Amino acid sequence: MFQPGGDKKVLCAGLICLDILSVLDHYPVEDTDNSMVLDEMREFGVEVDHVVMHDGCDFPSSTIIINTHTGSRTIIHADKDLPELTFSQFQQLDLNWYKWIHFEGRNMTEVSQMVNAVQEFNHSASMEDRIIISGECEKAKYQPEYFISTVDVLFVAKEYAQHHGFTTAKAAVHGFHSRVKKSATVVCAWGEAGADAMGPDGVHHHTDAYSPGQVVDTLGAGDTFNGAIIAAMCRSLPLDEVLKFGCRVAGRKCGQFGYRGLRE
Ligand code: ADP
Repeated sequence: MFQPGGDKKVLCAGLICLDILSVLDHYPVEDTDNSMVLDEMREFGVEVDHVVMHDGCDFPSSTIIINTHTGSRTIIHADKDLPELTFSQFQQLDLNWYKWIHFEGRNMTEVSQMVNAVQEFNHSASMEDRIIISGECEKAKYQPEYFISTVDVLFVAKEYAQHHGFTTAKAAVHGFHSRVKKSATVVCAWGEAGADAMGPDGVHHHTDAYSPGQVVDTLGAGDTFNGAIIAAMCRSLPLDEVLKFGCRVAGRKCGQFGYRGLRE
């Protein structure tokens, strides 16, 4: 089981996207100030000191229309002009600060260099200072395959699994497990069917989704699930407990709009 270093932090390497829910009683204007988003992240306990700022650029934004009966969503996405994170920006970080780095599966030319840099760091670090690397394969168009053979924890999104011909989380977890490192764990969330995982011991785990009663907003359920899985793994919980925790937090999120209060 993982034993990530004590007081060190979890770093998320990716792009911030502004989500505008059409069911809100206030409507953020399209060019919402970047500081509003950062303030909200701080409020949620996310440290933003290392966020790369691009003055004058807009976040990519998604306007989401939610069906309040089913929680299903229609997303209208607008890619604005916010540049992707580059390897040279990533190199400014002191990796000694981190116990875990999670990468979004996008911008892979740069991200693969970041993964290599963390692996190099790990080669010369003591066991307890090693950084756990996780990566999410979500959108096939970004070709995130580099993660499969390199990361310690591979998140396979339903969309990506289906693109590769898998029709269940169980099949996806088995399929990808044969391609990851021997010491790696594969985790696959499958919407209201819950989630499955397989660790280095090859034992398959499944957890049903936790029903929040009424599903009102599933937007961000996948990222919530990933975050909860990482938090539980950082506490070295056994894999079936990790999976239950991920589904419980993600299920809870589906029963409310946004993320407020989830931490508790
Ligand atoms: P994404 O937001 O990436 O589409 P998923 O739909 O795969 O993510 O869901 C991630 C996790 O969120 C699931 O494993 C499940 O635990 C939870 N979840 C998603 N939809 C529901 C739902 N309708 N009811 C309860 N839990 C859900």
